[in-house]
Amino acid sequence: GALLTAQDLHKAYGPTPALDGAAFSIHPGEVVAVMGPSGSGKSTLLHCLAGIVTPDSGLITYNGRELTTMSDGERSALRRSEFGFVFQFGQLVPELTCVENVALPLRLSGTSRKEAERAALTWMERLEVDDVGAKRPGEVSGGQGQRVAVARALVTGPRVVFADEPTGALDSLNGERVMELLTEAARSSNAAVVLVTHEARVAAYSDREVVVRDGKSWTWSASYERSYER
Ligand code: ADP
Ligand code: ADP
Repeated sequence: GALLTAQDLHKAYGPTPALDGAAFSIHPGEVVAVMGPSGSGKSTLLHCLAGIVTPDSGLITYNGRELTTMSDGERSALRRSEFGFVFQFGQLVPELTCVENVALPLRLSGTSRKEAERAALTWMERLEVDDVGAKRPGEVSGGQGQRVAVARALVTGPRVVFADEPTGALDSLNGERVMELLTEAARSSNAAVVLVTHEARVAAYSDREVVVRDGKSWTWSASYERSYER
């Protein structure tokens, strides 16, 4: 069955709805691209699915549990233990080295420094950034920084990785390498990836595309040529 589903989501910040009946589902290990123009509601959908934003109405279930009725504490515990996050930029702690950044989620959940940094280095090797472990985020390239961020998102063994324009600040070559490594690493650990992007080139790394427009969503399936299915 599906790991994470949403039905009939509505969310408004002002007079114009950001989400107006959006639906979504993702299976374990699946990579789903959320596509659509700027302002269409992609980030709001991602924030609702991740339990960061509460929709005005609609249902979101994770692993059979209703997310919208959980307490804030339950939702943040879920985010820490089951979800990983990669954003466009600014998410690494500048004062920490790259290996300390990757180890941070494990340190916060009580893992010893030695063990956390060993696990961090294993993930950094897979993302091909183990050589920048001792550097601070300000001393590495944009592509290296995003690969460090991907390692940090995966180090806790999440079941869902939320990636909002993860390559938006990179040139196409670095962006493609980040996408290759992100999807490879997620597939090898059977993590689902919710990938928000407005670039077809990035969405090409997904198994399926969900198109968002004016807060409404459609699943696009290659087997229904030129047709959209709600
Ligand atoms: P996208 O990610 O597709 O660019 P967003 O989900 O960021 O779209 O935004 C959808 C709409 O909701 C936009 O009109 C945006 O300005 C508005 N919006 C999103 N987040 C907020 C917020 N925190 N406060 C007010 N308006 C918001
Ligand atoms: P994205 O590039 O992913 O669409 P944005 O740069 O639009 O993200 O938004 C960054 C943050 O600002 C998000 O947390 C979003 O919810 C919030 N935001 C977006 N639009 C507005 C808005 N009109 N007013 C207030 N906050 C907003």
